[in-house]
Formats: sequence, C-alpha cells, structure tokens
Amino acid sequence: MAKLEHVKQPDISLYINGEFVPSEAGATFENYNPFTNETVNLVQEGRKSDIEKAVAAARDAFDNGPWRTMKLSERLAYIYKIADLIDEEVENIAYLESLDTGLPIKQTRNMVARASENFRFYARMVDSRLIGEAYQVDENFINYTMNVPVGVAGLITPWNAPFMLETWKVAPALATGNTVVLKPAEFSPLSANLLAQVIDKAGLPKGVFNVVHGFGETAGDALVKHPDVQLISFTGETTTGSTIIKNSADTLKATSMELGGKSPILVFDDADFDRALDAVVWGIFSFNGERCTANSRLFIQENIKDKFIEALEARVQNVKIGDPMDDTTEVGPLIHTEHYDKVVSYLQIAKDEGATVITREIPEEYKRGNFVAPTMIVNATNDMRVAQEEIFGPVLTVMSFKDEEEAVRLANDVDYGLAGYVWTNDIKRGHRVAHQIDAGMLWVNAQNVRDLRTPFGGSKSSGIGREGGHYAFDFYTEKKIIHVSVADHPIQQFGKQ
Ligand code: NAD
Repeated sequence: MAKLEHVKQPDISLYINGEFVPSEAGATFENYNPFTNETVNLVQEGRKSDIEKAVAAARDAFDNGPWRTMKLSERLAYIYKIADLIDEEVENIAYLESLDTGLPIKQTRNMVARASENFRFYARMVDSRLIGEAYQVDENFINYTMNVPVGVAGLITPWNAPFMLETWKVAPALATGNTVVLKPAEFSPLSANLLAQVIDKAGLPKGVFNVVHGFGETAGDALVKHPDVQLISFTGETTTGSTIIKNSADTLKATSMELGGKSPILVFDDADFDRALDAVVWGIFSFNGERCTANSRLFIQENIKDKFIEALEARVQNVKIGDPMDDTTEVGPLIHTEHYDKVVSYLQIAKDEGATVITREIPEEYKRGNFVAPTMIVNATNDMRVAQEEIFGPVLTVMSFKDEEEAVRLANDVDYGLAGYVWTNDIKRGHRVAHQIDAGMLWVNAQNVRDLRTPFGGSKSSGIGREGGHYAFDFYTEKKIIHVSVADHPIQQFGKQ
C-alpha cells in the first residue's frame, strides 16, 4: 500500500447535546504529530463549565429522553448502525490514529477493525442478557428483577489505543441505556472526534453521547466530581486512578479502574525457543511499547539465558523503526515529547543502577520525531527501578531465574498485576505457574490473544474491576428487585385499635 501523507487536520470542537460547539472559555490547545512534532490542529479545550453543559445534556437525555425507555430493538439498531458506520471509516480512523499517536498504520488498522465489533458484541450481549429473573415466593407474591441503566456514565480514556479503548467503554455504556460524557486523552483527540461524527451521523437522540476534549486536571476532574454522574470508567495510569477514586468518593460513584502494568514473561528452558522469541519481541515492541499488557520484564531460565539473549539482541536490532504511515514500520515515534523525556530518562536510570543498555542510534531523518530505538536492558536485577516501574516505551528489561520457584517469586515481586506470560512445553507447569502469578490475565504459550467475552483487567496496582464480556454489562447496569403482591394476603398492622 502506498505511503500516506502527514496532512494537517481541521480544528476540533466539543460535541455536546448533538452539536459541535466551541468551549465556553474559547480556549484551545495544540495537537501534535509525534513523527514531526508539528501542529496537526487546534482542539477546543473543555473545562468545568463545558463538562457541566455536557453532563446536563446527558442527564436530561437520560431522565427525559427516549434512550433508556425506547424499545430495545430500536436502541440496538442505533448501536448496529454505529458499527456499520465505523466499518465504512476504518481506513480513515486508522490513518488519524497513526497521525495522532505515532502508532504504525499496520497496527492501527488491525486495532480499528476490531472497534466496530465492540458495538456489535455489546448489542448482542444486551439483547441476550437484558432479562430479569422471576421468583415465585408463594401464592401471594411474585418478585422479579430488572437490569436498568445506571445513569450518566463518565468515560475517561488514555492515548495509547484511543479508538479501541473509547469504543470498548462507549459501546456497553450506550447499549445498556446509559447516556455518556467521554473525556478523551488530550494527546490523541482525532479519533474521538471522528467517533462523535459517526455517532452524530447515526442519529442518536441529542445528549445521549457527548465528548469534551480537555485536560485531566480540569475537564477530567470536573467530570469525576460532578454529582449527576453515576459512574466513572477509567483507563490510564495507576496514580491517576488513585486520584480519581479519591475525588469520586464524595459523590459515591461506581468506578472501574484499568491501570498500568509491568508484566512478566517467563521463558523456561523447555519452551519452543523460536516461538517464545517471537512472542517476547512482539509483546514489548508492538504499539511502540506503549501497551498496558506489554511484557516489559523478561525472565529467562539461566541455562538458556546466553543463547536467548544473543538471539534476542539480533532480533531487536532488526526491528524496523520509521514513519508510522509506512506499512513496513514496526516501531514509530512515542506519543509526545513529555512522554519521550520520561522513557529516555529510564535509560539513564538503568545505567545509574548498574545495568547495561543495548540500544541504537536513531537515523538523522527521524530525529525531529519522538523516537526511542527498540532497547534491551541487560545485567538488570528485579529490585531496579527499570524492573519495577512502568516505562511505557520500547524498552525491555531482561533478567533470569534458576527454577520454577524463583521464576514465580520474581514475577510476583512487583506492585503491578495486569498480565503475565508463560512459555514452557510442560503443560502441567504452564498451568501451575499461571495459577501462581498474581495478575488478572495470563497467557500460556500464547501472545496477547483476546476474546471479547472474557474478562479484561488487572489486580494489585493494575486495577479494580473487569471490563469485557458480561463484566462490562454488570458495571453499566443496576439490578433492581420488584416485590409484587398478587393477592390480598394478611399485612402487618400498627396503631389499629
Ligand atoms: P493518564 O492517567 O495520564 O491519563 C488518562 C486519562 O485520564 C486522560 O484522559 C487524562 O486527561 C485523564 N486524567 C488525568 N488526570 C486526571 C484527573 N485528575 N482526573 C480525571 N481525569 C484525569 O494515562 P495515559 O498516560 O493517558 O495512559 C497511559 C497509561 O494507561 C499507562 O499507565 C497504561 O498502562 C495505562 N493503560 C491501562 C490499560 C488497562 O486496560 N489496564 C489500557 C491502556 C492503558
């Protein structure tokens, strides 16, 4: 496929109550292309008053609009329509996503192609799951349950897989009958704006879906603290999640937290060497290493360590960095100069801690972008910061272990618990080790393959709650029980002479 151009984009407005509007303060912020660090466009900067407008619209649409009360088949027809419209835009969304984030176009295409399935999947799920249970108490009573939408859902998303993560939250929230205010990440507003355009085109009633661009400390904070917002679904950094839980406590919101990771990959000496090598390399360098489930801590069994590291180094040197719009690029530039500085600072930290950094020069032609070359940190130990803290870039920390017991101990000796990967041809050991690793998601002899029906999320500092499958359905609905008397049964009486 021909190389795409890095073309400037039209400025972006907020989407409130079915209209594209400027921010009340008239403030804007610049959105940058990580490949060139040039401005892509200006974005209206929503603040507290814009959040208030958006929440008021969403509240009104929830309380007085037809969205939650319309026939289910009618609501789900809108959801299927959104999926169809996304399918028409896949190439465009992938392009915008790569322009905005620096993620290689081949990878954004795959990711975006799955986004419409988020809508179809939750339409099917709501169709089959929006059912109640009836309890036949006795001849006088029948009790039944209902699953009702919660209200106004505040959705706050990160920049590392913007469209995928936004649709992953918007789809179940809308399909279950909630109304939504989305606050996308400030570093990646393009595809969220396209989602607003798609949903506008699908003709959803006004106020059902709103997007307020802006910064976390202002727009995000106002959404989290707003008394008319019933729940917050958040994906982002662990420290931000912690702040959001605190800030949402006064208004008693339900929260779902999908947070950071520092996931181990364990390669035992009986593993399929080449497949394990493929998995290690893809798992850390795909999505520029800016992936929550990245296997950023590699533990190799000692007796194959030298051979594995040698093969790994050869592969890592070969990983192709380049223009995110080029189909052959494997690693593109990092999202933003601020994030670039953070990732690069860890290379110095590694050296200061006594580890060895194996990296390479960035070609001159790419130096204006936020490129960090695929990097390995060897001679590292598990107590080093580079083995404990989320770097969120193309940086792999390599360590080793003697036996199974030590592998499990080292893997678990970290604050995070999002994912883990085990490579062994001993099927019993595969299960055994997976059972012992403290993480929400484990893969045995597999890469990061996902099925939308299964739970997604982490333990320890990686999150609270699960998304995906019926877990999201449960989060976005409230259970209600109705007790009905069907006969004049004896009732208890007070104060009757
Ligand atoms: P971030 O926490 O900096 O920002 C995420 C979102 O929160 C942004 O929209 C931001 O504006 C908003 N925000 C920031 N401060 C806020 C506040 N005080 N109140 C309300 N909102 C606020 O995260 P990021 O840098 O955009 O994303 C990278 C992080 O996301 C990494 O840690 C990564 O592991 C994590 N992540 C986790 C998952 C998962 O499913 N567990 C998936 C993807 C990314």
